[in-house]
Amino acid sequence: MLSDIEIAKQAKMLKIGEVAAKLGISEDEYEPYGHYKAKLSESLYAKTKNDPDGKLILVTAINPTPAGEGKTTISVGLAESMNKIGKKAMLALREPSLGPVFGIKGGAAGGGYAQVVPMEDINLHFTGDMHAITAANNLLCALIDNHMQQGNELHIDQRRILFKRCLDMNDRALRDIVIGLGSKVNGIPREDSFQITVASEIMAILCLASDLADLKARIEKILVAYTTDGKPVYAKDIGGCGAMTALLKDALKPNLVQTLENNPALIHGGPFANIAHGCNSVRATKLALKLADYTITEAGFGSDLGAEKFFDIKCRYAGLKPSCVVLVATVRALKYNGGVPKTELTNENVEALEKGIVNLKTHIENMHKFGVPVVVAINRFHTDTEAELAVIERVCGEMGVEFSLAEIFAKGSEGGIDLAEKVCKTIETKPSEFKPLYDEKLPIKEKLGILAKEIYRANGVIYTKQAEKAIKEITELGFGDIPVCVAKTQYSLSDDPTKLGKPENYEITVRDVRLSAGAGFVVAYTGDIMTMPGLPKKPAAYNIDCDNEGNIYGLF
Ligand code: ADP
Ligand code: MG
Repeated sequence: MLSDIEIAKQAKMLKIGEVAAKLGISEDEYEPYGHYKAKLSESLYAKTKNDPDGKLILVTAINPTPAGEGKTTISVGLAESMNKIGKKAMLALREPSLGPVFGIKGGAAGGGYAQVVPMEDINLHFTGDMHAITAANNLLCALIDNHMQQGNELHIDQRRILFKRCLDMNDRALRDIVIGLGSKVNGIPREDSFQITVASEIMAILCLASDLADLKARIEKILVAYTTDGKPVYAKDIGGCGAMTALLKDALKPNLVQTLENNPALIHGGPFANIAHGCNSVRATKLALKLADYTITEAGFGSDLGAEKFFDIKCRYAGLKPSCVVLVATVRALKYNGGVPKTELTNENVEALEKGIVNLKTHIENMHKFGVPVVVAINRFHTDTEAELAVIERVCGEMGVEFSLAEIFAKGSEGGIDLAEKVCKTIETKPSEFKPLYDEKLPIKEKLGILAKEIYRANGVIYTKQAEKAIKEITELGFGDIPVCVAKTQYSLSDDPTKLGKPENYEITVRDVRLSAGAGFVVAYTGDIMTMPGLPKKPAAYNIDCDNEGNIYGLF
């Protein structure tokens, strides 16, 4: 089979105006970025304001292997297949980050015959949103350091500056740095650190903001530092929030592209699914719901991280009501959850699968706790055997959920017709009774207790002294009553990446708690969460090349 980029290069793309026209978008309602990308204009929101919303379908997954399980691939393929059976469906997905593109995972524009295009652009600079977010973030950092340089009127404690610089790159050398060295004019020396852009609070804010006014108001609320006598300093106290909004003005507009089969896709915003909420912008999802009858969206990592936050943070804030969950599983990830090492996942192993399938069962149960019906989609890899697939089908039958074998990667829309039909049937016959899992007004520890018990299946939560102190501080600042966002390993339902399958009889440990006041959630850290990833020994960057005509090779 051809590689992802080879398939993407063969795509017969429509000019972006033709894609827009399919959605009834006129020429003055989109802003072209070249021939195949566009940003959608503000006027479109006003025009569609009173139109009815379509159905929202969330694609999520079981606990993944390190390679990802094909959520984006299934999302794209499902959109193709739904259009194929005559439904008006579109995508709302996250923007890829350069870190993973050049690191281990590769691109994030789908795979095989289920991709969004132009994939090179989408995976590299796209329409510049990541750069705008990086610039806005780093403007605030420069303003904070300049404030201290120019007399430090606010008495900012240089040891307690929370807001970090960012860069859209996996660059471990920037994790812990010292800045302001040299002479007096070079600033105040202090320890600092970089995060990857997708981990910055600005990214989370952009994705949750309802409009420009809300964006600015959220930026102003960012807790950036504490003073020497322990008082909070917000971005508003520093100033420059208007300039940051100016930098983000166009980044707030959703990006329109197309699939390999010329169906419309919005790709906008891409926050991490551990320290942030892990799904595309509220603006893109809401607009897609107005423009199409079915919107297919994806949440990062497994359902314990991505879907939970999609429901408890994004849907709660934006008033969204998902109609169906598509839970992606792969034979290889179920075997991985049954204890098979990464290198042996391609060998048939029914026994390990029978053991690991408890992970799928737990994710199905968890999704039902939100009141949304589930369809299980098996993303077929060519190494899957009939005996292995039969086990999954049997278990889905026992649990009363629809099961579909999706061969979207290999066949495009043809490979997902059964999935599309089952999703439509589920939406028609099983009404969603969506509700968030917890009441956000509960104290922080009670909210974490509910998540630990219901989703991570722990007996309870252990708090370090640091976490206790932080919870007290955040509650005293008046932010105890907003949703919690748990930063946790994606490989396990627990906080320990080696506890696969369904962890039981354990306690989850919260090591620290930090406030993302602008985004509107409290981040609870369990385990060491990397907010600036590193590159592996053989980075994907070594496979990528560009010829003298500007053709790009080796992206995957
Ligand atoms: P996720 O969204 O869950 O992280 P992706 O859809 O990005 O996963 O897929 C991860 C990688 O796996 C991509 O490189 C994709 O091309 C590849 N992939 C996805 N589905 C299949 C499949 N059925 N067979 C082979 N490779 C696949
Ligand atoms: Mg993905």
